[in-house]
Amino acid sequence: MNQLMEHQLHYLSQKYNEYNLPMYLSYPVDSHWRQPADEAAISLQLQQLAAAQVYVHVPFCRSVCYYCCCDRVLGGNEEDKDRYISALEQELALKLSGRSRRLKSANIHWGGGTPAYLNERQIERLAVSLKQYVELEDNGRMKLEAYPDKHIVTEAKLLLLKALGFNYISFGIQDFDTRVLKAIHRECDVEAARETIGLARSLGFTVNVDLCYGLPYQGLGEFERTLKEIVKIAPDKIVAFPYAHYPAIYPLQRKIPLLSLPNSYIVSRLFALAREILSSDYTEMGSDTFIRNNGRERHPGVHVVRDFMGSSETGSPELVGLGKSAVSRTGRLYYKNVQAMDRYRAALDEGRLPVEQGTTHSWSEDDAIRAEIILKQLLGGTPIDKQALKDSFGVEFDTYFRQELPVLRSMEKDGLLEGVDSPRIQVTTSGTYFIRAVAHVFDPYYKSTSIGENSI
Ligand code: SF4
Repeated sequence: MNQLMEHQLHYLSQKYNEYNLPMYLSYPVDSHWRQPADEAAISLQLQQLAAAQVYVHVPFCRSVCYYCCCDRVLGGNEEDKDRYISALEQELALKLSGRSRRLKSANIHWGGGTPAYLNERQIERLAVSLKQYVELEDNGRMKLEAYPDKHIVTEAKLLLLKALGFNYISFGIQDFDTRVLKAIHRECDVEAARETIGLARSLGFTVNVDLCYGLPYQGLGEFERTLKEIVKIAPDKIVAFPYAHYPAIYPLQRKIPLLSLPNSYIVSRLFALAREILSSDYTEMGSDTFIRNNGRERHPGVHVVRDFMGSSETGSPELVGLGKSAVSRTGRLYYKNVQAMDRYRAALDEGRLPVEQGTTHSWSEDDAIRAEIILKQLLGGTPIDKQALKDSFGVEFDTYFRQELPVLRSMEKDGLLEGVDSPRIQVTTSGTYFIRAVAHVFDPYYKSTSIGENSI
């Protein structure tokens, strides 16, 4: 990075600090879903659904990492896990039985938690139950999130997963540096990761690796070593997420000393470093996602969008979430399952959908327009196309967003955007480091709440 760019990043990171801005896994972000749940309407939508992405939440983890923002359960014995699978089967039946055809899905995703922490019998049972109701489309993706530890992701488990139809595996590496890992209470050894990933690849899995930047004690040197190791391991896809520090929402994060966290300038430099090191072998596709083989022309038609599963290249916006705390989207409705295990199971035992009251959101036309800009265009790494918005939604950008225009023009002056008054607004390279700051200009929900209330 040249000196001019360094100075510019330094200035911009002071002005556009993203510390309190949401990650935009959805729009509006889930902390703004506050409508009551209409279970009858949800059931009807589920019945009418022909195809959707399917997310299965398996919350159990061997130990808990301090930086984690996921809904997870520490340990869990075999009986707990079996009972949880029974609850998932009840939920599947409640949501997807009585249909003339199974639900089609281009993307079945088991996340958590640590789904690979289930034993082989439990994995097989859950996969077989899922298949009764969900059919993976041709060339569809069946994906499992995994911890890069050969004691959790054993060869026998990988063979079983392959036989059950899984074709994609995502390893949460985050960083290899010992001090960083100790500060977040996580273990991840380069050799073990190399071995496990190599084994997964040799069995024919497509392999994704998640990295996290902005972690405690993570400096440019530490992250550079991790990135170089990752390039040697050569996963098919790398997603580099910024660490989100919200100790008020995730109390375990209080164990991370505030002073150990890199400042916003270093955070932007860490992402710049990822870009620099990955650029020779990977193509940046937006949403913090890098796909192996450099050059967009080598990935025709691939468009990455941010979603609850991180980032995804498959199109369907419909999502059926299964498991405690799982999020769904059917039609224009977002809703969330209850998080507490006992309430989740109790709802299912009573034959009710385990939807949390007061956490539903029905999209307005305005939400749809803003979601298109925030999730698809800005976070998807494509320009804001005013004509395309007019064609899709019938709105004149300059009139509809007249209140946002002065802020966008000021961002243009700061070098974050180009062409604010032209037909296409382009985010500059500098702007991509502050993409959430650009996105939040279009988010009226964020403006109407106090700082810190947003979740990621
Ligand atoms: S980061 Fe993954 S392994 Fe660690 S506690 Fe969270 S879900 Fe569990």
